[in-house]
Amino acid sequence: MKHALPLLALPLLAQLATPALAADDPLTRPMKSSYTDRWMEPRPALPVWGGTWLTGSLHLNTAVIDTGAGLIVVDAGLPQSAPVLEAQIASIGHKVKDVRYILVTEAHFDHAGGVAALARDSGATVIASPYTVAALARGGTGKEDQQHDDLQAFPAPKKLRAIRDGGVIRLGHTSVTARFTPGHTIGSTSWVWNACDKAKGCRTVTFLASMSAVSQDGWLFSDPAHAAITTSYRASFKKAAALPCDILLTGHPEHGQADDKIAAAIRDPKSVDWQDKTACAAAAGRFTAMLDKRIAKEQAAK
Ligand SMILES: [Zn+2]
Repeated sequence: MKHALPLLALPLLAQLATPALAADDPLTRPMKSSYTDRWMEPRPALPVWGGTWLTGSLHLNTAVIDTGAGLIVVDAGLPQSAPVLEAQIASIGHKVKDVRYILVTEAHFDHAGGVAALARDSGATVIASPYTVAALARGGTGKEDQQHDDLQAFPAPKKLRAIRDGGVIRLGHTSVTARFTPGHTIGSTSWVWNACDKAKGCRTVTFLASMSAVSQDGWLFSDPAHAAITTSYRASFKKAAALPCDILLTGHPEHGQADDKIAAAIRDPKSVDWQDKTACAAAAGRFTAMLDKRIAKEQAAK
């Protein structure tokens, strides 16, 4: 059939056919902050140990665990990170539908923004602490969050399930344990699992939640009204330092001092040994120093 279209209509039709417009998706619509360009700098999926992969971008990590009976994903980055993560899943020989569970460290847009899109596309169940499940359902944490004024709402995932501290998710040959490490958010959760390599054996991988002492302007860690939050940070530092931890992964690579390892792994994945039994305790030590420094600064300003 022949269409008699006026010539002027053609550019508009051509525009409508461009992928950018065709692909507009409310769940992956880019969120912007002063960090998002940095958080979208690309890198490939990197093999860590056994079936564990470090996915995400150069400066914002997520993880994919191949359990032999489906995939478990830890965090999903920004909304616009979800298509990148899905491409990385394909690049390591899996389908997005292979994702069975998405575990969330914290309900902030840089770690949980892409969860709704990945959950929709995969059909996976999203698992997090009770606080984080409630926050995810609302698209973010509330006014109780010390970063509230600096945060943006993000797409809310469906199919949410709460887990208790110490709760275990079993899939294939993998068991992932939830370890609550509150402070940075009330519901912050670290995830610990066994990664097994046929030749080299099994190692414990810990994906440590962010424990950075940051807040919106004017919110003070030294305020007695905020003692519960500051106390929860300190308890989490102790807990993190004592976690089984052959290999440390963190959402923000700098929290695990992993930038050099990641750069080396991009050049040659086989050249990098991710094992470091001291890494969790060292990270806890740096987070402790960060909180101490912050409190000292607040007190000096009084
Ligand atoms: Zn955060």
